Order: sequence, then C-alpha cells, then structure tokens
Amino acid sequence: MDKADGLGQARQNLTDYLRLNSLRNTPERNALLEVVYSTDVPMQAEELARLMTEGGRLRISRATVYNNLRLFEEAGLLRKVFQDDKVLYERTDKSKGVIKLVCDGCGKITEMNGDKVRRQIAQLRTRRFNATGWELRIFGLCSKCTADQKRKQNKLNKKDKDRK
Ligand SMILES: [Zn+2]
Repeated sequence: MDKADGLGQARQNLTDYLRLNSLRNTPERNALLEVVYSTDVPMQAEELARLMTEGGRLRISRATVYNNLRLFEEAGLLRKVFQDDKVLYERTDKSKGVIKLVCDGCGKITEMNGDKVRRQIAQLRTRRFNATGWELRIFGLCSKCTADQKRKQNKLNKKDKDRK
C-alpha cells in the first residue's frame, strides 16, 4: 500500500466515523489527517500542530489539536506510542504488518518485507483477543554502527597488544 492509498482509505474511515457520530468534518481535521498520513514517522503533538499550521493556512489552538488527536484515536486512525519519555502519535494503517529493524546504536529504523513472517502472523489465532494489527521490532546494530563498533574494538585490541 503506498502513501496515497493510505490517505485515501483513512479519509474514508474518518468520513464514516464522523457521520456515525453526527460530527462534521473541519479544515482542522482534514489538515491533521493529511499531516499524519504523509509520513511514516511517529510525531509529538507539538510537531503535528506545527506542520498543520505551516504556511499560515490555518490557525489552530492547542486545545483543538489535542481534541482532534483524541477523536482520531477513537476513530482508530492513529495511536499513541511511547518512546523514551515522549508521547508520539502514529498512523494505524501501517501496523497491519510492519517489521522494523531498530538500531540500538543510532536509533535508525528501517522496515523490512519478511513475507514468511507476515504469512505466519496472519494465521495466528489470538485467544480472547480481537487483533486489529501488528508491529514487529527487531533490535540490533545497523551496518554503520557495526562498523563503528568493530573499529573501536580493534583500537582497544591494538592498545592491549602495545602494552604487552
Ligand atoms: Zn546504527
């Protein structure tokens, strides 16, 4: 699913949710949807607010941003994730099968395909739990950090040898 498809689907879901709850769509809600679904990176509320008001198209109060974030959560369009001591918001459509490689060295996150794992997870039966999506994170070191570590290790070994 590419980014445009994700946004299209999310827009439909938002429209359905608003109609179901007798709410109306607003420019603020549209802007939030576009900002959240234009990136794969989880963001803080302040960052989302900044992107929504960029270019001076909209003036949005902090309260409006938080109200809409809560509404989007209830609508299942985004979810809170906790990273370090920060609260971040991320789109939910991607979690219908994301495998992330997380580098413990520099924090870089890359996604991988992993068709075999995907198929196995799709066949999982979750007892007394209605699964709606998943995310798998594999921790380790990226190639750059692995090289850095090796270099450091070699330096230490050399020092050791020189001392002998
Ligand atoms: Zn790294």
